[in-house]
Amino acid sequence: MPAIPSPSRKALEKLARERILILDGAMGTQIQGLGLGEDDFVGHGSGHACRHHSDHPQKGNNDLLILTQPEAIEEIHFKYAMAGADIVETNTFSATTIAQADYGMESAVHDLNVEGARIVRRALDRATAIDGKPRFVAGAVGPTNRTASISPDVNNPGFRAVTFEDLRKAYSQQVNGLIEGGADVILIETIFDTLNAKAAIFACMEAFERTGIALPMMISGTITDASGRTLTGQTPTAFWHSVKHSRPFTIGLNCALGAEAMRPHMAEIASVADTFTCAYPNAGLPNAFGQYDEGPEDTAKQVGEFAREGIVNVVGGCCGTTPDHIRAIAAAVAGVPPRVVH
Ligand SMILES: [Zn+2]
Repeated sequence: MPAIPSPSRKALEKLARERILILDGAMGTQIQGLGLGEDDFVGHGSGHACRHHSDHPQKGNNDLLILTQPEAIEEIHFKYAMAGADIVETNTFSATTIAQADYGMESAVHDLNVEGARIVRRALDRATAIDGKPRFVAGAVGPTNRTASISPDVNNPGFRAVTFEDLRKAYSQQVNGLIEGGADVILIETIFDTLNAKAAIFACMEAFERTGIALPMMISGTITDASGRTLTGQTPTAFWHSVKHSRPFTIGLNCALGAEAMRPHMAEIASVADTFTCAYPNAGLPNAFGQYDEGPEDTAKQVGEFAREGIVNVVGGCCGTTPDHIRAIAAAVAGVPPRVVH
């Protein structure tokens, strides 16, 4: 029996035909602003002690804060919701066994995804209690730190650090956790290798078949160089053709070089895709210190142009963006008609 579309898919498609929807902004910048140390990351002192053990240092393992600093993470989600986000992402970009292996925290993956979705739901329910607006939890699925298509070893081009099957298993565990925690959407993001994304899509399809309910998928690639290709060499059009069989709710781009560099590639996707489109650029290019200089008004002005050009249905922010960026973006696209899907 094929899975039936979830109520969230119908609700999102209806809203997306009425107006441009708003996605949230970066977690990293907000987490950095908390100035947390190793003790905070593992939950000693002020936090919640983590029941999962690892011998590795955990500072920088942002996803772990779901379990050790849940109040702080909920507050960030709440700020984005109140800034105007209709769709808010879980803090689970690296919550797979493959990515958590760097921190020896593979055992925490199930809890991270279940709790990660629950925390967003709590934050969004608080916001909705204030203004009555419906909001949606997007379970964030990152690319992992390994690529299935190319070799990391220049002397051994046939070598792969990860297989499709490794990725499928890891993503299955993540997606099942996100669904258990109440995700309304699965957002597969920052895709630099479409083969990794296809493993995530496959894991979603299996999960939807198991539950009988197909959540909407948002699929977002990243263009990492000026030639306009993904890391594994695909053009935006090729990227769309590689994933369109999954009938995603949105296709689009995030992260990378900022809004200005993203614009022509987003326009290309909008011209070929027969589904809604989503763009959430970084706050410009990172400077020499890896920080982002673009203020809320700068990013919002450019994203507002995407809207007036008619190339977007969902917009938000990636690295370096803040609740103020999202508030400015929401204001910049308010009243601009959404892209028409043909
Ligand atoms: Zn980013």
